[in-house]
Amino acid sequence: MTQPRIGFIGLGTMGTPMAANLVKVGFPLLVWNRTASKVEPLLRVGAKAGKGPAQVAAEVDVVIAMVSQPKDIEAVVLGPDGVVEGIRPGSVLIDMSTVSPMTSRTLAGAVTTKQAEFLDAPVVGSKGPATEGTLVILVGGLPTTLERCRPILSVMGKTIIHAGGVGMGSALKLATNLMLAHLGAGFAEALLLVQRVGLDPKRYLEVLEASTFRSPWYQTKGIGMVKRDFTTHFALKHMHKDLRLMRELASEVNTALPVTNAVEQLFAQSEAAGKGELDYSAILSYLEHQH
Ligand code: NAP
Repeated sequence: MTQPRIGFIGLGTMGTPMAANLVKVGFPLLVWNRTASKVEPLLRVGAKAGKGPAQVAAEVDVVIAMVSQPKDIEAVVLGPDGVVEGIRPGSVLIDMSTVSPMTSRTLAGAVTTKQAEFLDAPVVGSKGPATEGTLVILVGGLPTTLERCRPILSVMGKTIIHAGGVGMGSALKLATNLMLAHLGAGFAEALLLVQRVGLDPKRYLEVLEASTFRSPWYQTKGIGMVKRDFTTHFALKHMHKDLRLMRELASEVNTALPVTNAVEQLFAQSEAAGKGELDYSAILSYLEHQH
């Protein structure tokens, strides 16, 4: 595929820098966002504004979507004026949102009826890697479709992992965020304990860094939590959504996730306490009011 025209739907925290990187390397880009004002930064770097998902899909070779959750991608793709209404035979829909494998399969089935192809391609990495083009992209779908789209995905991510058929990228992403949710909640609990027994959190971070389970996560998110900086990179409401999707997936394959279920409850309570728009690390500020 030489210089394909790309459509990008969903210009939130992640979609905006990902789309900007595509424009910067010269792909012709048509963008659409439900809240129209969010297209402005993309227009300034050379993208054009689309009129809606169906019109965007009708004008491009590859449609990329980066929205919140299953019901949202279903509205964008399957709803009135959705991608399926406009998508052309031979083109590709790449859904990069974190959704369930079942949702990915539903979307794939719908675009296939229009002789188009589908990839689920959720990402690991937050606003920083999205801006730097260093995301890890987990792909489900046909290898031939992935190879067609690799030059586009390579602009947004430094590592592209083919997980298997449609839905397997989504499954791999949920398994990845399972560990991230545990890490966020576990570190929040440990930090509270450390502080309340009178230890210096910096000493605690030193120990973690010297251990076999050291991670760059402590140097970014961990230090942010010590400083109580809950600026949103990955919204707590989205982590809660991912935990719900993990539970549903586990139930489909008859697998018990008791610890993950407890973590889900914590995120549910934090969101109910009004912390959904903050970063998921704000689980700390919920826990510190529990006794
Ligand atoms: P976000 O900032 O909340 O943006 C969500 C985007 O989806 C917005 O453009 C929003 O439009 C659009 N949207 C939501 N519902 C819609 C609907 N019904 N119809 C049309 N558009 C709709 O989220 P984000 O942080 O960019 O995350 C996007 C996806 O990537 C999520 O699935 C998330 O779990 C996943 N993810 C996020 C991160 C991260 O660190 N942030 C990392 C990896 C994966 P409006 O502007 O109109 O609201």
